[in-house]
Amino acid sequence: MAQLQTSSTLTCPKCGHVETETMPTDACQYFYDCKGCSSVLKPLAGDCCVFCSYGDVPCPPIQVPAPRVIDGTAQLYAPTDTLLRLGTSGIKESNDAANGSNPLA
Ligand SMILES: [Zn+2]
Repeated sequence: MAQLQTSSTLTCPKCGHVETETMPTDACQYFYDCKGCSSVLKPLAGDCCVFCSYGDVPCPPIQVPAPRVIDGTAQLYAPTDTLLRLGTSGIKESNDAANGSNPLA
């Protein structure tokens, strides 16, 4: 799996202060107190957290754009469109396929 970047360098839009901060991996940080000018930074419109708006690295949830599928095994071998086609027939079938021969290959 891709390595997550958990630190991001924030640049304050008001005073230009640069600070490298560690990002929480399980939550979005919505407010950030600038250590340069004490402004409380908030995400720009459309961004989920201050790291996405002002940091050089987007927050961990953004770095992992793929939605978590119920069956992680199916996600590994099946492209998204295959998962969609399998959706009505059930995830269990695709799970069995992953364990043995793959009829979709
Ligand atoms: Zn500042």
